[in-house]
Amino acid sequence: MAEIIVRDSIYIDGAWVASEGNETIDVENPATEEVIGRIPSGTAADVDRAVKAARAAQDDWAATSPEERGKLIARLQEAVQGKHAEIAKTITLELGAPAKMSEMIQAGLPLADIATAAGLATSFEWERQLNNSTVVMEPLGVVGCITPWNYPLHQVTAKVAYALAAGCSVVLKPSEVAPLCAFLFFDAIHEVGFPAGVVNLVPGYGQTVGEAIAAHPDVDMVSFTGSTRAGKRVAELASQTVKKVSLELGGKSANVILPDADLAKAVKVGVSNCYMNSGQTCTAWTRMLVHSSQYDEAVELAAKTAESFTVGDPNDESTRLGPLVSKAQHERVSSYIEKGKAEGARVVAGGDTNPLEKGYFVTPTVFADVTTDMTIAQEEIFGPVLSILKYEDEDEALRIANDSIYGLAGGVWSGDADKAKAFARKMKTGQIDINGGAFNVAAPFGGFKQSGVGRELGPFGLEEFTQPKSLQL
Ligand code: NAD
Repeated sequence: MAEIIVRDSIYIDGAWVASEGNETIDVENPATEEVIGRIPSGTAADVDRAVKAARAAQDDWAATSPEERGKLIARLQEAVQGKHAEIAKTITLELGAPAKMSEMIQAGLPLADIATAAGLATSFEWERQLNNSTVVMEPLGVVGCITPWNYPLHQVTAKVAYALAAGCSVVLKPSEVAPLCAFLFFDAIHEVGFPAGVVNLVPGYGQTVGEAIAAHPDVDMVSFTGSTRAGKRVAELASQTVKKVSLELGGKSANVILPDADLAKAVKVGVSNCYMNSGQTCTAWTRMLVHSSQYDEAVELAAKTAESFTVGDPNDESTRLGPLVSKAQHERVSSYIEKGKAEGARVVAGGDTNPLEKGYFVTPTVFADVTTDMTIAQEEIFGPVLSILKYEDEDEALRIANDSIYGLAGGVWSGDADKAKAFARKMKTGQIDINGGAFNVAAPFGGFKQSGVGRELGPFGLEEFTQPKSLQL
């Protein structure tokens, strides 16, 4: 068995220090079910220490010029770039993401996030004139960031690099499930030499460290990404001290294929989108909506595409689908597959929840004959499970697309881009790709309805970490 990666310190006030507690958390490789790492299980006292350091550093950091902050963040980007290969390898180990995907997306996207935040530090409109008022955008203060495991470093950089660019100080709690890449990120932070206290890391469980951050009276804002369940709890705790809360939560996004679309392309891209990161993507298009006249053809194409996904060892070059992240996630996804069958949906691909001897794998699954009242059409599964629904006309397609408590992402396909855009404008969801439009690291990212509150990335994301002050002249 390979050596275990042991990180025995937390990062407070510019130094790696011991946690006040002595419990640890094991990190597992979901492809092999072996323990591959160990981290400190932080405590509420650690959070208090980190918040005090962040508070003490806040005013001086807020007083630095945007240019200075931009320069430091650009150096951070270089330092993280220097660790790119190690970060990618680590994310493959702790998450099970296929090696190439880890390199390009899991470790690649954070570099783009940090670079964008560095650039925005100087290009952001820090001052605006409104009649006789000068409006200055001031940093929000001490920001607590709580992140999930599915894009474990991207979710960290989308918050931390932006909060720093805004002039906020930060206490981060990464996911306890895939935390090792966050430690590498903090190695880079330490190398760059941010002023002590500006960025702090307290790893640990949500119920202890996460709740202590959300409840702390000296935290000005909590930026949370994760499940709707935990997001509600964070908002509840944060409300007691009236702090700002931004929530990036779950999704059940619709991919609407209009009858004049390139069906083969729309289905192929749609299936790949749904299965990205083993379906553990908050924006995944998990509901495919197809016109009744093309339904059978689309189902056949989707099944074929699903079967072309090789499941297996994430380090094997031919693997396109790694395992789910944990045993709990595997049980959850398996129970949704059973529920889909029990509620009358038809499995046309996959459905096997134990294809390999070891590891938390499931085969990429496609359900046909799904109706909008079924559990698998309503709840976020967070695994490689696609539901294909039928519509008779555009009005019905829109009703089905919007029939969700969520509204995070979506897709629309049509031979006429203007028609697709007109349809997209009627969808109640935060970001919609038209005919497979590419992800944009500077576009506002966030949800309608129970998918969240607030936006991340780009100028809108930076603005979340600021508050306006009006000076009347
Ligand atoms: P999770 O809610 O279990 O955990 C997310 C983070 O919150 C972790 O750091 C966890 O320790 C912490 N946490 C858990 N309970 C908490 C509590 N009571 N108080 C404070 N913090 C707490 O979610 P997960 O399983 O890590 O991630 C999967 C979920 O995240 C999915 O629902 C997915 O849709 C969502 N997600 C959303 C986005 C988005 O941008 N909208 C992005 C990625 C993931």
